[in-house]
Amino acid sequence: MSVITENVLLAKRTIAEAAAEAGRDASEVRLLAATKMNGPEAIREAVAAGVDICAENRVQEFLEKNAMNAYSGCDVHFIGHLQRNKVKYLVGAVSLIHSVDSESLLSEIDRRAAALGIVQDVLLEVNIGGEASKSGAAPEDLPELLGRAGEFSHVRVTGLMTIPPAETKPGENRNYFRRMHDLFVDIRRKKYNNVLMNELSMGMSSDYADAVRCGATIVRLGTALFGARNYDKAGGAPDGTLR
Ligand SMILES: *Cc1c(COP(=O)(O)O)cnc(C)c1O
Repeated sequence: MSVITENVLLAKRTIAEAAAEAGRDASEVRLLAATKMNGPEAIREAVAAGVDICAENRVQEFLEKNAMNAYSGCDVHFIGHLQRNKVKYLVGAVSLIHSVDSESLLSEIDRRAAALGIVQDVLLEVNIGGEASKSGAAPEDLPELLGRAGEFSHVRVTGLMTIPPAETKPGENRNYFRRMHDLFVDIRRKKYNNVLMNELSMGMSSDYADAVRCGATIVRLGTALFGARNYDKAGGAPDGTLR
């Protein structure tokens, strides 16, 4: 069995165990492979081993690999920071965009989706750690953004996504995950027009078991499936920051 296959199976087992501990059904949690800097062969292996979703965080990388049919047979999402001028490459091409954090992005996605005659599902990204370096809406700005979502008939907000601060010790992010789950439940109760709260995208390689215990419906794993990324080789982000 290849290393990637073993890693996928281990991640699924970890998700199932964490879900069981929290009294949840493992089928409520989807495993997303964050495939950045991995080629079509590695991606196809992960898909064959049973990941539920593939996702890129850079538009250019998505377009290149999509043209090579790297995601064949798998649901594809976009998880990276998104600029307005790149929206046109994603709408209708991915089933879920995780990283919407402004009305300007909502309106551009709406415009492009309307032109295609479709409704694009998106998540609102929340900067739960309040870090200046991270994108995402501040929790206190969510009500306004959620209110605006009702004006865009070709966009549907289906949940929330977050990238909490990097952990310095295991378990540190549980508080952020709990706060995200509280927001998720609160928003669902308020029943905003054109907003569903079905998806809570949180948890990465180092903290996904905690995210599942706290209610994640999608966990996003890169390193845990594919091994460490070689940023030096690719010429960027040597400090390990997300690209
Ligand atoms: C790369 C990436 C991940 C996965 O990170 P790992 O720590 O390698 O699991 C998750 N979410 C986003 C947005 C990413 O860019």
